[in-house]
Amino acid sequence: MSKMPPNILVTGGAGFIGSAFVRLAVSSGFKVTVADKLTYAGDSARLESVSNRIVFHNADITDRSKTDAILRKTKPDAIIHFAAETHVDRSILDSSPFIKTNVQGTATLIDFALKYKVKKFLHVSTDEVYGEIKKGYSTESTPLNPCNPYAVSKAAADMLVQASVRTFGLPAVIVRPCNNYGPWQYPEKFIPLTILKAMNNQKTPVFARGLNVREWIYVEDCVEAIMTVLNKGKTGEIYNIGSGEERKNIQIIKTILSVMGKSSDLYTFVKDRPGHDLRYSCNSDKIRKLGWNERHIFETGLEKTILWADEHMEWMNGKTKELRAYWRKVYQRKR
Ligand code: NAD
Repeated sequence: MSKMPPNILVTGGAGFIGSAFVRLAVSSGFKVTVADKLTYAGDSARLESVSNRIVFHNADITDRSKTDAILRKTKPDAIIHFAAETHVDRSILDSSPFIKTNVQGTATLIDFALKYKVKKFLHVSTDEVYGEIKKGYSTESTPLNPCNPYAVSKAAADMLVQASVRTFGLPAVIVRPCNNYGPWQYPEKFIPLTILKAMNNQKTPVFARGLNVREWIYVEDCVEAIMTVLNKGKTGEIYNIGSGEERKNIQIIKTILSVMGKSSDLYTFVKDRPGHDLRYSCNSDKIRKLGWNERHIFETGLEKTILWADEHMEWMNGKTKELRAYWRKVYQRKR
């Protein structure tokens, strides 16, 4: 898109990355409408700083009549599609909400994006669709090899988007970010969970002796990359979003404990996640050619995240209660 779209619809805008994108878009002068179901992972507190400058719909993207009504009313120039079920461990316990939201929800949005002739459909995918990368890195043309139900649902959504570009002329672009971290991330994810446990002097559970490697990007850098693709990305193209900052999980835990001045043994090894991919790594040369570069090295981003968590302990601890209730239910079902 050569001109900035003034009117955008952001799905999943009350989530971790979606809300960071909404804050950036509002400060960049976009007219922003958010559609979010407010699942356990969604929280309008993340949008408090911009709440009087956006339109918010509590809406499920799998609900066809509601999605139709939102698009009819909003007539967005562009849709930025973040809404998804996102936690791999939950997808292993029950894949159905992942298939429903990530696959069926994406298909529904595509239908109405076509009906209302949006000028750009920016689909937020993940580097997990490439599966485990033992050596080297994935490029945008690496074949998809998703290895857990979450990644499968995201890969299916990518394929729906790509098929719609070809079959219906949907003006779509896909981004595939690596692991994000930063303020407002739900503390079931690895980095905020480790910070929260350390704050409460509890041990973080670590899969597979902490040897899994992920590439980490600070959320503000990721949303700037997504904004770059919204403004300059080419229809039909895919853009990886990586930072080159690869770390073993055990290194991350040790860094967090050291920055927080905690005992270096506040972790415990647990049985590995089934089908756990050892390493993800993606090549981001293509998006860098659009003029984007990250602004945070991992340690700087991590320090900012820890500082933020320290100032938002109440929010973090509040989520712990929800999480305990969820896991209690899971264990009860297993008995
Ligand atoms: P998140 O879990 O924090 O937020 C997801 C948001 O989607 C929540 O606000 C939730 O309420 C909303 N949502 C869920 N189901 C919905 C539905 N049916 N209808 C409307 N809204 C619904 O996720 P996140 O970490 O911010 O991830 C955002 C996107 O980025 C996802 O598509 C995810 O796959 C992708 N991604 C995330 C990461 C990461 O490290 N977090 C990395 C790569 C890609």
